[in-house]
Amino acid sequence: MSLGTKIAWDDTVLPFQLDASDMRGRVARLDGVLDGILKQHDYPQQVEALVAEMALLTALIGQTVALRWKLSLQVQSKGAVRMIATDYYAPQEEGQPAQIRAYASFDHDRLTDAAPFDQVGEGYFAIMIDQGEGTQPYQGITPLAGGSLSACAEAYFAQSEQLPTRFSLSFGKSTEPGAGEHWRAGGIMLQHMPKASPFAASGEGTGEILTATDLVDGEEGENWGRVNILLDTVEDLEMIGPSVAPTDLLVRLFHEEQPRVYDAQSVQFGCTCSEDRVRQSLSIYSAKDIEKMTTPEGLVTADCQFCGAHYVLDPATVGFEAEDSEGA
Ligand SMILES: [Zn+2]
Repeated sequence: MSLGTKIAWDDTVLPFQLDASDMRGRVARLDGVLDGILKQHDYPQQVEALVAEMALLTALIGQTVALRWKLSLQVQSKGAVRMIATDYYAPQEEGQPAQIRAYASFDHDRLTDAAPFDQVGEGYFAIMIDQGEGTQPYQGITPLAGGSLSACAEAYFAQSEQLPTRFSLSFGKSTEPGAGEHWRAGGIMLQHMPKASPFAASGEGTGEILTATDLVDGEEGENWGRVNILLDTVEDLEMIGPSVAPTDLLVRLFHEEQPRVYDAQSVQFGCTCSEDRVRQSLSIYSAKDIEKMTTPEGLVTADCQFCGAHYVLDPATVGFEAEDSEGA
């Protein structure tokens, strides 16, 4: 393998299957994606860690769905970090990268030195799937619990999808010679093969919070236990890279489970905001409302929370009354 292959695994999601245990999984590495997301903001370190973990979960989960448009993860809480939102946009053509964006909103003066997840209080973790125009969006939620965002995602899959799922994640700020400080993240997702889309046959919830092990018994339970013990041996540095290729990692962890890999999906930071979409979101307001939003300079401005893009519009051209008068 050439030197270039080390870097080639950055910002990719590698799908795999374990034939011997009827599991599927993903290995993801994020590098430039996190730079793209985080450089738009000047988040404190605890918030950056939460956003990095959420972006990694988004890459792992987004790639498992037969997705035509968008998968979103959202955390809403009463804690210092009020909201974390991410979107994963499916590639519009084969061979193109998927796009990921993320942001967090938080109360600076309520942040503490405690662990990142402690900055998130009581609240909800949600997954939404939007397959585009003409389709019903799909949404499921689970309470925030378990000490990490990945534990919330595991609870979500157990409770809402009845689908045993395990995440092993590693993320942190690294200092590489010449590259300065920047965030990297890497992780593995393991999941029982789903029986229907989008994730699995979705039974009605019982109201109890199930864990993955409540859902499997007999041979399935044995497979689940065995594969999890193997995953427990993974080391942070193996996941985060770049020195160990994900394919080598899968062989090291799961060679007896007959790992089979599929084409890797590349991912990049990207935002779908545009002046048209800003106009669309303002189209619900009356001329009176628009007047209230108008700056002393006589302009309506809007900033994209995801990418920081700054939009400046003429108030006479926005709002539903303006649209009507243009016949748009
Ligand atoms: Zn944007």
